[in-house]
Amino acid sequence: MLRQTFIFIFILSLGCSAQAQRKWERSLQSRDLTILPAAAITAGQEAIQKEIIIAGRMEVGAGGPFIACSVGWDEDGVAVSNSRLRISTSIDSSAWTAWTDLPVDGHAVDAKWDACTDLAYLPAGSRFWRIEILTNRLGKGRVMKRIQLNFFDPGPTPPSGTDAGQIPNGPAACPCEKPNVVSRTGWSCPQTNNPGYGFTTVTHLVVHHSAGSNTQSDWSAVVLSIWNSHVYTNGWADIGYNYLIDPKGRLYEGRGGGDNVTGAHFCGTNGGTMGTCILGTYTTASISDTSRSTLTKLLAWKACGSNINPAGSSWHPNSARTLNHISGHRDGCATECPGAMTFAELPALRTAVVNQIAACNMPTSLREIPGLRSFRLTPNPVRGGRAFAEFDLAGSRRMRYEVYTTDGRQVFASRSRQVAGRVTIPVEGLDKVGKGAAFVVFRVDNGGFTQRVVVE
Ligand SMILES: [Zn+2]
Repeated sequence: MLRQTFIFIFILSLGCSAQAQRKWERSLQSRDLTILPAAAITAGQEAIQKEIIIAGRMEVGAGGPFIACSVGWDEDGVAVSNSRLRISTSIDSSAWTAWTDLPVDGHAVDAKWDACTDLAYLPAGSRFWRIEILTNRLGKGRVMKRIQLNFFDPGPTPPSGTDAGQIPNGPAACPCEKPNVVSRTGWSCPQTNNPGYGFTTVTHLVVHHSAGSNTQSDWSAVVLSIWNSHVYTNGWADIGYNYLIDPKGRLYEGRGGGDNVTGAHFCGTNGGTMGTCILGTYTTASISDTSRSTLTKLLAWKACGSNINPAGSSWHPNSARTLNHISGHRDGCATECPGAMTFAELPALRTAVVNQIAACNMPTSLREIPGLRSFRLTPNPVRGGRAFAEFDLAGSRRMRYEVYTTDGRQVFASRSRQVAGRVTIPVEGLDKVGKGAAFVVFRVDNGGFTQRVVVE
């Protein structure tokens, strides 16, 4: 399978653009790079004092659906970007695309450059590029001193989802299944093993968007290009996210296979977190129904299996913040991620995850609970907060239950107890839900079911 990465590193001195141009030309002797005629690269250079356009030819071209580009650079004496970049490409060096912004990637914390850009997706077959660098006009002297361009052609990849195997369930106490996942092999990750991974006990689930294209034909290639940018531009050990979800709802294994690996996605304070990235930009667009469904199931599997209350919040020591257990990237630091639309949706997502956990506890019939011959909760409607659960069980079973409000808030959890035969137990906690509907989730051995009750 062909896959090509070309990285160009060169030194810039932007104190004087004409001088910088000569210096830059001298530093580029690579046969892989051809400098365009001066007439093509100096447009606009005179009009704005500290604008410079650099240009060259890329030698990638393995026949993938696009060419991905990210840029990293160092700046003189400043820690955050004072520069803005745009890129335009051409297949024949004659007709050029419109300029595309290359915004600074807020995820690129602890990267090897002072600043790195988001990925840009360039038309397949592009061979020529121009990058316009607009430096901080208020600054003095040199601003940008070293820059790296990373062009990546993912080449042909297998159709997304062909490797979506069933992953074993979480702990037996939780019947929520992990959604099918495209393995790292499935999205052609070149990296099969990295002994340097750190592991963490996940307490908080962080949602991201990739801030990339919302329309692609090959999402495996998009995942691969993010991996390439995180490894070769940011200089990280692996892709930053634990999981990624494409707009068609397919789930991809991220860093080190995903589960409980310390990622690189949350403002440099990644311990205790699991980062899930929805591919695309959701500033004004909503995530798709299918990606929302996969996200809900993934978070339900993780929350249920790791005893994380999806509707709760707690102290996150790494970021020194109290965070919702399902948070957005911007809850940790200043960033637009996960997009205004996705961020506004997080309260509904928390409720959906609570409901998903209740749903995956619910069998299609009581017969699916081994040994449960009959069950009744009485009275229903409940009056005075007092109700009783009547079981008829074959053999001895372990049983416990939880009481939830309709918005998913758990108000009571019983201890686990051993029960056998015909047994009636009082249901506690119904005095804490207020008037209206509530749910009691009964768990019998590894099965369970949900009983809806009305409290008067
Ligand atoms: Zn993010």
